[in-house]
Amino acid sequence: MKSTFDVCNPATGQVIERVIDGTVEDAVWAVDAAAAAFPGWAATPARARSDILRRCHELMLRDADVLAALISTENGKSIVDARAEVVYAAEFYRWFSEEAVRGEGSYSEAPAGGVKTLVTHVPVGVAALITPWNFPAAMAARKVAPALAAGCTVVLKPAEETPLTALALGRIMLEAGVPPGAVNIVPTTSAPAVVSAWLAHDRVRKISFTGSTGVGRALLRQAADRIVNASMELGGNAPFVITADADVDAAVAGAMIAKFRGSGQACTAANRFYVHADVVDEFLEKFGNAVMALRVGPSSDPESQVGPVISSRALARITALVEAAIADGARIAFQGKIPNSGLFYPPTLLVNVPFGAQILSEEIFGPVAPIVTWTDESAMLASANNTEFGLAGYVYAGRLQDALRIGEQIAVGMVGINRGIVSDPAAPFGGVKQSGIGREGAHEGIREYQETRVYSVDWA
Ligand code: ADP
Repeated sequence: MKSTFDVCNPATGQVIERVIDGTVEDAVWAVDAAAAAFPGWAATPARARSDILRRCHELMLRDADVLAALISTENGKSIVDARAEVVYAAEFYRWFSEEAVRGEGSYSEAPAGGVKTLVTHVPVGVAALITPWNFPAAMAARKVAPALAAGCTVVLKPAEETPLTALALGRIMLEAGVPPGAVNIVPTTSAPAVVSAWLAHDRVRKISFTGSTGVGRALLRQAADRIVNASMELGGNAPFVITADADVDAAVAGAMIAKFRGSGQACTAANRFYVHADVVDEFLEKFGNAVMALRVGPSSDPESQVGPVISSRALARITALVEAAIADGARIAFQGKIPNSGLFYPPTLLVNVPFGAQILSEEIFGPVAPIVTWTDESAMLASANNTEFGLAGYVYAGRLQDALRIGEQIAVGMVGINRGIVSDPAAPFGGVKQSGIGREGAHEGIREYQETRVYSVDWA
């Protein structure tokens, strides 16, 4: 008998499903299956791979309601957020169905003459993919789709909080025509052992990880033992800057998305609001009104806009961060209402947050918005950049040149200008500093699963 683990709804604590708990033996078996499927999949014509990926996109949209319900049940996010995630996740399959057939290379002559150089891109091999719980469909799709497009086969370990969505995607991929063995999903409560076994397996040539910086660092150390090609999407601490002449209504609309989507549990979530003194009163009042109007509740309530946080540990961490900020001199300006039970944290706006406060340097990963007032641009930028992270940033300004000037000086991989969202399957997603290595999505995304191969040819 295989042992199982429970998957729970974070809004109610109820067990939704029991899932087989993958062991190290299962993990090795999964790599062996992926390795056996690799030559056939890599040799499948790009057009055939592309058609299958395109079919995955269509099937995800066909099943959008079922997938959205599953995401919101195991992750807790509102049904509106879950539906948006399904569409976003499906788009990775469509985008990479298009990239699959754009295999490009080059031909050149050596400067000294005679020798010709042919450059091509080949699949890296079996890829190990590790995903978090905050976007159970999108984080899997963003890795699996480019890997399959490139001709790689994969082993995937979803987060133990949210394995059901990944398993549902697995069924969709089989239905779409992905051959058995090309995608192997191993839910487990033994993440360190399973992933270590993958990194030690001589057929694994690639790791793509999305999760916390601490775990990413540990996996990079392990990847060093066998020089495994590594892509890392790690933590963020996005500043959200509002200038004196920004459109405040637009900034509030963007702030609501950047802060409260998925209860603030996104690595691109706005973590710190830097609002110019000239507009801080207007912004605070309008942001506060919007926050007080938010409906917080379980995803079973179709009107709910903000769901629970993922775990009691997350709830305790957010509570402690807010308490520490208050001890540092911050004040709660607005705080929404929450249901009587479940892992809910009320949407909260903090003001009077001093530049050095702990809450400005740590990833909050919850529905709390610390607001800092600024007048001096260079002091504001110094504070915005005073973090080990560099994933995303946001700037709202009346004049595009101001937005771009400020955007240029924030050390991040992605800047939202006059919008509260940066993620797009067609745009390279990734960070600088300790937010990661590599890019996902876009043209760059498929490259993460390819090696460059050169033929140096003397055909004189
Ligand atoms: P979060 O704090 O968002 O849960 P984690 O980095 O802990 O982020 O988790 C992201 C993914 O990494 C999940 O799939 C989790 O199971 C996995 N994971 C966590 N710890 C380890 C570890 N030591 N080794 C390998 N994978 C891990």
